[in-house]
Amino acid sequence: MTDLQPKASHFIGGAYVEDTAGAPIEVIYPATGEVIAVLHAGTSAIVEQAVAAAGAAQAEWAAMTGTERGRVLLKAAALIRERNRELSVLETHDTGKPLQETLVADATSGADALEYFGGLAGSLTGEHIPVGGGDFVYTVREPLGVCLGIGAWNYPTQIACWKAAPALACGNAMIFKPSETTPLCALKIAEILIEAGAPAGLFNVVQGFGETGAMLTGHPGIAKVSLTGSVPTGRKVAAQAAGMMKHVTMELGGKSPLIIFDDADLESAISAAINGNFYSSGQICSNGTRVFVQKGIKEAFLARLAERLGTAVIGDPMDEATNFGPMTTKAQLEIALGYVAKGVAEGARLVTGGERIEREGFWMTPAVFADVTDGMSIAREEIFGPVMSVLDFEGEDEVVARANDTEFGLAGGVFTNDLARAHRVIGRIRAGSCYINTYNLTPVEAPFGGMKASGVGRENSKEAINHYSEVKSVYVCLGKTEAAF
Ligand code: NDP
Repeated sequence: MTDLQPKASHFIGGAYVEDTAGAPIEVIYPATGEVIAVLHAGTSAIVEQAVAAAGAAQAEWAAMTGTERGRVLLKAAALIRERNRELSVLETHDTGKPLQETLVADATSGADALEYFGGLAGSLTGEHIPVGGGDFVYTVREPLGVCLGIGAWNYPTQIACWKAAPALACGNAMIFKPSETTPLCALKIAEILIEAGAPAGLFNVVQGFGETGAMLTGHPGIAKVSLTGSVPTGRKVAAQAAGMMKHVTMELGGKSPLIIFDDADLESAISAAINGNFYSSGQICSNGTRVFVQKGIKEAFLARLAERLGTAVIGDPMDEATNFGPMTTKAQLEIALGYVAKGVAEGARLVTGGERIEREGFWMTPAVFADVTDGMSIAREEIFGPVMSVLDFEGEDEVVARANDTEFGLAGGVFTNDLARAHRVIGRIRAGSCYINTYNLTPVEAPFGGMKASGVGRENSKEAINHYSEVKSVYVCLGKTEAAF
């Protein structure tokens, strides 16, 4: 095995733990198809061990002051920043995303979350509410207990940190189950948290397929489930959690609109369309995959877009000049190529790309379809790959109605130089994460998450605190208590 093979599959109670009775998980480097590590899925014994370790650590952690907890998170962030290159190389092995991306978007984004919530930890307080006659109510913000994070495979380090940072800041413990496709990165975050001073058991990693995720979701020792994944999985996990009245955060899929009016700065709009469709080879939930372009600029937009796509550097993800890498899995590559075939079959015009690249690993060229209509599969379904659909529009009311005509509501963007129109249009878009004259930026200070089928709850920002804590109110009576009889 390569030197990427971890000491064991799981990280529980501050140490690596193995149980070879679990089904094997082969970790594949997407750029070559080579197996770089073999792990085992969590068994029920592993799940029990993780829940017990997390429960014990949570009591110790919640008894510390917020400032003390914050100090640990800040130390972890500093260690992540020191090791950014090493963690980025690992992220590239896990996902295939080019090092040019992972050096700036993954471990660094995880560190941002730990810094932000580490900074907030000491200021999480309740309220004092006067209620008359000298009586008052005070509120206390309490941790939920042991929270479960379940991750998708596109941002394994970032997702682990985006869930752990607010959860830990609020005094919870966490068990994180990475996608079985990308299981390596979260183990490093677990090591770093221990090194930063977190109690053993505070952040545990249990590997596994959906079955292990379901065992954890259904465990009575778990108070909350935060899932990043597809809408169908979200429905299953939320239903299972609802049966036990557990809290949930659901960060799910999308088919987001990016609306470009004819007065927009064309080069910026094209940059946004490129970032919002081809960054991470298109494997981003909030991508603006329905690009609505006003009729007058359509051909100029397509010509310049195709020209710029011709300059994409597709190749070895470890070469920092590469800016477009492989798909993370063979299955996802086949899904994306299948949608290219569907787009052609349903009558859309393939402007460029969409071909399998004949080399080891899971490669295709970025695809752009024009003349896409609202009913086509490529305009309705989440592809989660590098396939952009360009749709024409004429007027504002028309484009807003069409943009909202979807079960999803994760993100949306508008490009225009008309200030009033920009705010008016965004005000009418039913989506949780919106952009004016840019796309897909996700600073930790801003709430992130979806409306409609795209999710429940928000990650990042002060909003996340509400999703990892609950409020107790205490009525204090200063006088006598009376009764009718
Ligand atoms: P999946 O929905 O297939 O899986 C998500 C996670 O859930 C995986 O760890 C998976 O395990 C686990 N899982 C599957 N079934 C169950 C179950 N019954 N109980 C508990 N856990 C289960 O998503 P992908 O990993 O394929 O990721 C792609 C999807 O994620 C896209 O739809 C994308 O839009 C969405 N996403 C959303 C984001 C957001 O913030 N809104 C961000 C990134 C991605 P296993 O992999 O082993 O099956």
